[in-house]
Amino acid sequence: MLTPLLEKLLILQDRDGKRLGLEARLKAVPAEVAEVEKKIASEKAAIEEARAGLRQLEADKKLVETEIGSAETTLAKYRTQQLQVRKNDEYQALGLQIEAAQKAIGALEERELQVMYAIDEAKKKFADAEALLKRNITGHEARIRTLRELETNLAAELETARADVAAARGPVDEPALKIYDRIAARQMPVCVPVRGGKCGGCHLKVSSEVESAVRGKGDGKLATCDQCGRIVWWDAA
Ligand SMILES: [Zn+2]
Repeated sequence: MLTPLLEKLLILQDRDGKRLGLEARLKAVPAEVAEVEKKIASEKAAIEEARAGLRQLEADKKLVETEIGSAETTLAKYRTQQLQVRKNDEYQALGLQIEAAQKAIGALEERELQVMYAIDEAKKKFADAEALLKRNITGHEARIRTLRELETNLAAELETARADVAAARGPVDEPALKIYDRIAARQMPVCVPVRGGKCGGCHLKVSSEVESAVRGKGDGKLATCDQCGRIVWWDAA
């Protein structure tokens, strides 16, 4: 049986539950915004990384080209010298140097090719990273806007919910509020029905003392579950 006091407490509990739900949702919003911002930042970082990689490779290519240029100058110099020498051993020595220079140029050209392939890859990577951000950014920004709107709405709803809670507390007497608040600080719901001898909060059997206390005594005193401490009321249904 629901006493008038319990009816008031159930209204308070209902409004408190709503308030707590709103508080929890409101508290979760900044983390959700941060999550989206993290995604944007990581997509931008991927672009920057790809851009830096591409720049490095282009610098590498220039360096190899310079090295090829100077190796070719050296080679041309050896060839000119070879035409001018008279002695056979000098001619042969220059021949070896020419061979070595040609080998070095071959290796440099091989490296240049590798760098060029790498540049193609890096360009693709850069374009992919840019496309990904471009594809996602509208969605990311819309999500953040939605979350900000949600935050504003929840804050307004919470204000109303808190006023509703305050209004529900008004008609409840001080000692009952004290018991209610003590339990509410620990666990929700505070007021639960006893059905079939079991507490609706912890689902354990209440003692016969508690059971007889809640069975329609209607003396205005609150009975609590001897297992979990919640306020209990008898529900014959
Ligand atoms: Zn209980």
